[in-house]
Amino acid sequence: DPRLKGISDAIRVVPHFPKPGIMFNDITTLLLLPAVFKDAVDIFVERYRDMGIDAVAGIEARGFIFGPAIALAIGAKFIPLRKPKKLPGEVISETYVLEYGTDCLEMHVGAIEPGERVLIVDDLVATGGTLCAAIGLLDRAGADVVECACLIGLPKFKDFYKLNGMHMASFLTTA
Ligand code: IMP
Repeated sequence: DPRLKGISDAIRVVPHFPKPGIMFNDITTLLLLPAVFKDAVDIFVERYRDMGIDAVAGIEARGFIFGPAIALAIGAKFIPLRKPKKLPGEVISETYVLEYGTDCLEMHVGAIEPGERVLIVDDLVATGGTLCAAIGLLDRAGADVVECACLIGLPKFKDFYKLNGMHMASFLTTA
Protein backbone atom coordinates (compact mmCIF):
# COMPACT_ATOMS: atom_id res chain seq x y z
CA ASP A 1 0.00 0.00 0.00
CA PRO A 2 1.74 3.23 -1.14
CA ARG A 3 0.24 5.19 1.77
CA LEU A 4 2.25 3.23 4.32
CA LYS A 5 5.58 4.87 3.48
CA GLY A 6 4.11 8.35 3.99
CA ILE A 7 2.64 7.26 7.32
CA SER A 8 5.89 5.67 8.42
CA ASP A 9 7.89 8.76 7.41
CA ALA A 10 5.53 10.97 9.44
CA ILE A 11 6.15 9.09 12.70
CA ARG A 12 9.06 10.56 14.67
CA VAL A 13 11.33 8.07 16.43
CA VAL A 14 12.76 9.53 19.66
CA PRO A 15 15.70 7.62 21.16
CA HIS A 16 15.88 7.11 24.93
CA PHE A 17 12.32 8.19 25.70
CA PRO A 18 10.79 7.80 28.26
CA LYS A 19 13.90 6.03 29.55
CA PRO A 20 17.36 5.03 28.28
CA GLY A 21 17.37 2.34 25.60
CA ILE A 22 13.77 2.84 24.42
CA MET A 23 13.14 3.98 20.84
CA PHE A 24 9.82 5.81 21.19
CA ASN A 25 7.53 5.99 18.18
CA ASP A 26 5.90 9.42 18.42
CA ILE A 27 2.67 9.62 16.38
CA THR A 28 2.05 13.31 17.26
CA THR A 29 4.13 14.35 14.22
CA LEU A 30 1.75 12.32 11.99
CA LEU A 31 -1.22 14.22 13.46
CA LEU A 32 0.25 17.50 12.17
CA LEU A 33 -0.21 16.29 8.57
CA PRO A 34 -3.97 16.02 7.95
CA ALA A 35 -3.67 14.08 4.69
CA VAL A 36 -1.37 11.51 6.29
CA PHE A 37 -3.50 11.30 9.46
CA LYS A 38 -6.48 10.62 7.17
CA ASP A 39 -4.54 7.90 5.31
CA ALA A 40 -3.79 6.21 8.65
CA VAL A 41 -7.45 6.27 9.72
CA ASP A 42 -8.60 5.16 6.26
CA ILE A 43 -6.41 2.04 6.40
CA PHE A 44 -8.29 0.89 9.52
CA VAL A 45 -11.67 1.94 8.11
CA GLU A 46 -11.16 0.02 4.86
CA ARG A 47 -10.42 -3.18 6.80
CA TYR A 48 -13.22 -2.91 9.39
CA ARG A 49 -16.14 -1.09 7.73
CA ASP A 50 -17.85 -4.29 6.55
CA MET A 51 -17.12 -6.52 9.55
CA GLY A 52 -20.29 -5.69 11.49
CA ILE A 53 -18.35 -3.94 14.26
CA ASP A 54 -20.66 -2.52 16.98
CA ALA A 55 -17.99 -0.85 19.10
CA VAL A 56 -14.42 0.40 18.86
CA ALA A 57 -12.60 0.18 22.21
CA GLY A 58 -9.60 2.55 22.38
CA ILE A 59 -6.74 2.20 24.86
CA GLU A 60 -5.59 5.30 26.78
CA ALA A 61 -4.03 7.50 25.57
CA ARG A 62 -3.19 7.15 21.89
CA GLY A 63 -6.03 4.72 21.22
CA PHE A 64 -8.21 7.76 22.00
CA ILE A 65 -6.73 9.58 18.99
CA PHE A 66 -7.32 6.92 16.33
CA GLY A 67 -10.26 5.04 17.85
CA PRO A 68 -13.02 7.69 17.68
CA ALA A 69 -12.13 8.64 14.10
CA ILE A 70 -12.39 4.97 13.09
CA ALA A 71 -15.61 4.47 15.08
CA LEU A 72 -17.37 7.43 13.43
CA ALA A 73 -16.32 6.32 9.96
CA ILE A 74 -17.61 2.74 10.42
CA GLY A 75 -20.77 3.70 12.33
CA ALA A 76 -19.73 2.11 15.63
CA LYS A 77 -19.79 3.40 19.21
CA PHE A 78 -16.56 4.30 20.98
CA ILE A 79 -15.55 2.89 24.37
CA PRO A 80 -12.57 4.35 26.27
CA LEU A 81 -10.43 1.83 28.16
CA ARG A 82 -8.75 3.99 30.80
CA LYS A 83 -5.98 3.95 33.35
CA PRO A 84 -7.19 3.43 36.97
CA LYS A 85 -9.40 5.95 38.75
CA LYS A 86 -10.20 8.08 35.68
CA LEU A 87 -13.70 6.81 34.90
CA PRO A 88 -16.42 8.23 37.17
CA GLY A 89 -18.96 5.41 36.95
CA GLU A 90 -18.90 1.79 38.07
CA VAL A 91 -16.00 -0.02 36.38
CA ILE A 92 -14.52 -3.43 35.79
CA SER A 93 -10.70 -3.59 35.98
CA GLU A 94 -7.99 -5.78 34.56
CA THR A 95 -4.47 -5.67 36.00
CA TYR A 96 -1.54 -6.68 33.83
CA VAL A 97 2.18 -7.21 34.34
CA LEU A 98 4.77 -4.83 32.91
CA GLU A 99 8.54 -5.27 32.74
CA TYR A 100 8.72 -3.52 36.13
CA GLY A 101 5.52 -3.63 38.19
CA THR A 102 1.92 -3.74 37.03
CA ASP A 103 -0.63 -1.53 35.33
CA CYS A 104 -4.38 -1.64 34.99
CA LEU A 105 -7.14 -0.81 32.48
CA GLU A 106 -10.74 0.00 33.40
CA MET A 107 -14.02 0.08 31.47
CA HIS A 108 -17.43 1.39 32.48
CA VAL A 109 -20.00 -1.26 33.34
CA GLY A 110 -22.77 -1.02 30.74
CA ALA A 111 -20.53 0.31 27.95
CA ILE A 112 -20.95 -2.93 26.03
CA GLU A 113 -23.82 -5.44 25.72
CA PRO A 114 -23.10 -9.17 25.74
CA GLY A 115 -22.52 -10.41 22.19
CA GLU A 116 -21.64 -7.02 20.71
CA ARG A 117 -18.79 -7.14 18.20
CA VAL A 118 -15.76 -5.11 19.26
CA LEU A 119 -12.57 -3.89 17.62
CA ILE A 120 -9.76 -2.93 20.06
CA VAL A 121 -7.49 -0.10 18.84
CA ASP A 122 -4.15 1.29 20.00
CA ASP A 123 -1.26 3.06 18.29
CA LEU A 124 1.45 0.46 18.93
CA VAL A 125 1.88 -3.13 20.09
CA ALA A 126 5.17 -4.06 21.80
CA THR A 127 4.76 -7.10 24.08
CA GLY A 128 0.99 -7.30 23.60
CA GLY A 129 0.42 -7.10 27.36
CA THR A 130 -1.80 -4.03 27.14
CA LEU A 131 -3.94 -5.54 24.39
CA CYS A 132 -4.31 -8.78 26.36
CA ALA A 133 -5.65 -6.79 29.32
CA ALA A 134 -8.11 -5.05 27.01
CA ILE A 135 -9.23 -8.41 25.59
CA GLY A 136 -9.69 -9.67 29.15
CA LEU A 137 -11.95 -6.75 30.09
CA LEU A 138 -14.16 -7.12 27.05
CA ASP A 139 -14.34 -10.91 27.36
CA ARG A 140 -15.52 -10.56 30.95
CA ALA A 141 -18.23 -8.16 29.82
CA GLY A 142 -19.43 -10.80 27.33
CA ALA A 143 -18.32 -8.92 24.21
CA ASP A 144 -17.29 -10.67 21.01
CA VAL A 145 -13.76 -9.31 20.36
CA VAL A 146 -13.38 -9.51 16.59
CA GLU A 147 -9.80 -8.26 16.32
CA CYS A 148 -7.13 -5.98 17.82
CA ALA A 149 -5.56 -3.42 15.51
CA CYS A 150 -2.54 -1.15 15.96
CA LEU A 151 -0.97 1.21 13.49
CA ILE A 152 2.54 0.08 14.47
CA GLY A 153 3.87 -3.32 15.57
CA LEU A 154 7.26 -4.72 16.46
CA PRO A 155 8.82 -6.70 13.59
CA LYS A 156 7.96 -10.03 15.25
CA PHE A 157 4.30 -8.94 15.08
CA LYS A 158 4.21 -8.47 11.34
CA ASP A 159 0.92 -7.85 9.50
CA PHE A 160 -1.50 -10.43 10.89
CA TYR A 161 -0.78 -12.81 13.72
CA LYS A 162 -2.30 -14.41 16.79
CA LEU A 163 -2.14 -12.80 20.21
CA ASN A 164 -3.35 -15.32 22.81
CA GLY A 165 -5.46 -16.86 20.06
CA MET A 166 -6.88 -13.45 19.08
CA HIS A 167 -6.53 -12.20 15.54
CA MET A 168 -4.29 -9.14 15.50
CA ALA A 169 -3.51 -6.64 12.75
CA SER A 170 -0.71 -4.08 12.61
CA PHE A 171 -0.04 -2.03 9.53
CA LEU A 172 3.52 -0.76 10.02
CA THR A 173 6.68 -2.22 11.53
CA THR A 174 8.88 -0.34 14.00
CA ALA A 175 12.57 0.24 13.35
P1 IMP B 1 2.77 -3.50 25.18
O1 IMP B 1 1.74 -3.63 26.25
O2 IMP B 1 4.11 -3.98 25.61
O3 IMP B 1 2.33 -4.12 23.87
O4 IMP B 1 2.99 -1.93 24.92
C1 IMP B 1 2.06 -1.21 24.17
C2 IMP B 1 1.63 0.02 24.90
O5 IMP B 1 2.74 0.84 25.20
C3 IMP B 1 0.68 0.82 24.03
O6 IMP B 1 -0.36 1.38 24.82
C4 IMP B 1 1.57 1.88 23.42
O7 IMP B 1 0.89 3.11 23.22
C5 IMP B 1 2.71 2.03 24.42
N1 IMP B 1 4.02 2.14 23.76
C6 IMP B 1 5.06 1.32 23.89
N2 IMP B 1 6.08 1.72 23.12
C7 IMP B 1 5.67 2.81 22.48
C8 IMP B 1 6.27 3.67 21.51
O8 IMP B 1 7.41 3.51 21.05
N3 IMP B 1 5.48 4.68 21.07
C9 IMP B 1 4.23 4.86 21.52
N4 IMP B 1 3.66 4.07 22.40
C10 IMP B 1 4.36 3.06 22.89
